[in-house]
Amino acid sequence: MLMSQLYAPTLRETPSEAELVSHQLMLRAGLMRRSASGMYTFLPLGLRVIRKVEQIIREEMNAIMGQEVLMPIVQPAEIWQESGRWDEYGDEMFRLKDRNGRQFCLGPTHEELITALVRSEVRSYRQLPLRLYQIQNKYRDEIRPRFGLMRGREFIMKDMYSFDKDEEGLDASYWAAYHAYERIFKRCGVEARPVEADSGAIGGDVTHEFMVLAEAGEDSVLHCLKCGYAANVERAEGVDRKLPAPNGEKQPLQEVATPQVSTIAQVCAFLNKEPQDCIKTLIYLADGRPVAALVRGDHNLNEIKLRKFLNCDVLELADEDTIVRITGAPVGFAGPVGLDVPLYADYAVKYILNAVVGANKQDAHLINANLDRDFQVTEFADLREVQPGDPCPRCGDALEGARGIEVGQVFKLGTKYSKAMGATFLQENGVETPFVMGCYGIGVGRTVAAVIEKNHDADGIIWPISIAPYHVIIVPVSVKDPAQTEAAYKLYQELQAAGIEVVLDDRDERPGVKFKDADLIGFPIRVTIGPKSLEKGEMELVIRRTKEVRSLPVGSILAAIREILEGGEQE
Ligand SMILES: [Zn+2]
Repeated sequence: MLMSQLYAPTLRETPSEAELVSHQLMLRAGLMRRSASGMYTFLPLGLRVIRKVEQIIREEMNAIMGQEVLMPIVQPAEIWQESGRWDEYGDEMFRLKDRNGRQFCLGPTHEELITALVRSEVRSYRQLPLRLYQIQNKYRDEIRPRFGLMRGREFIMKDMYSFDKDEEGLDASYWAAYHAYERIFKRCGVEARPVEADSGAIGGDVTHEFMVLAEAGEDSVLHCLKCGYAANVERAEGVDRKLPAPNGEKQPLQEVATPQVSTIAQVCAFLNKEPQDCIKTLIYLADGRPVAALVRGDHNLNEIKLRKFLNCDVLELADEDTIVRITGAPVGFAGPVGLDVPLYADYAVKYILNAVVGANKQDAHLINANLDRDFQVTEFADLREVQPGDPCPRCGDALEGARGIEVGQVFKLGTKYSKAMGATFLQENGVETPFVMGCYGIGVGRTVAAVIEKNHDADGIIWPISIAPYHVIIVPVSVKDPAQTEAAYKLYQELQAAGIEVVLDDRDERPGVKFKDADLIGFPIRVTIGPKSLEKGEMELVIRRTKEVRSLPVGSILAAIREILEGGEQE
């Protein structure tokens, strides 16, 4: 490709619409342009990168018996009504009608469509396992699309669905996908860490997210440097850790007036206490039934854990009227002493001596509240949001906090969709059985953005060779010099003949401009042809990642490039 012909409109200035480095660089390097909020046109360089990532994914999916299909973007409402998600999806779903008034959506995901496909075709256990995948656009009408490809309304995803005859089969499919994902991200030149995650509303109990740890990430991750445990903040397990026996004895329970003092911070300031001396009492309705949840003052309740623990469908904070009815006080003064609803407490509450609690009375708190003597807890459980510094649930070392970009997720669905949609097959013993399913996604664009977040410098993108749009750019310092031009075209043809992806910068521009563009776009290797080195029969080979410059005889350039490309990684 000749640079003069390449449609890669680079920008010197950072576009104001872009906050994240990856977003800025994808616009500046001419990889893509915004067409509407959260929707992008990929320009030639950007699409080449996308296609390379897709090809790596395709190879690894095929290697685990994945078979590629392509499902439509537009999906009929009926299958979503069968699974119960037509209403559940809410405003995030793009909906449309055809000329006959029939309802459709733009697929936000494809579980329903694939289940509908397989249920009418696959009848016998002999046809299982079946692993089908596609690389297709998805649509989610995000409230706030942002960060370029990180959170778009249209995005490219690889989604695989596995159909197995039993849990054991699902396990095999799940771990095959898990290990394929490890290989995919490694081949794309980015470290993505499998992180235990919560399965949320999708069902099933085992799921891992693949996270690229980066400041730009929207997710919170806790991980242990010692044993490798990693989980997202919703999932991370809290430990029932016996704290050192507190000094001092149980003091007499006492009511203190705390006029207009209701938050933990206010109470602490007013009573000269620390948040860890306080117990937060939160009143919830679990499927309409009032319960109280207790956490230490410096901890946050994890509602996902509480809902799971109570095994309820709907968990919501109680409204003001309910709080007044149950505690006898307005919001902000609830406490465990004398409260007549089930009390569920996080483990850490066990170890608080002489706690500060709400008095269930307006403008009053109790000090020196102690477990067993002053209040009883129905049951202790892991209910808090784990924080950096908390002990690792596997080895006890302190957990570190980090930000993560979720680039993939593997998920055991079990029989949620097959049961809801009547997708069954005949077992060996002739019994109709629902398929046991898994689903496995990778955000293709988001992976590219994550790679850039981890591979750039002040001058631009530093592509890993495996997904670079082109491998080499040849830059003659002056195209007005026939000797340089001739040498440049000769090398260009030689590299092309050798199957190396190469761009020749044939523009009549100052060398500084050409070098800047080469660095911004991030070609892994630049060959500079200047008058002085050419007189000596040499060219300069510049490695983008390290900026290392090698002067080499013209005749050995191809071999040197080959060696770098075959090495896979720039030193
Ligand atoms: Zn650990």
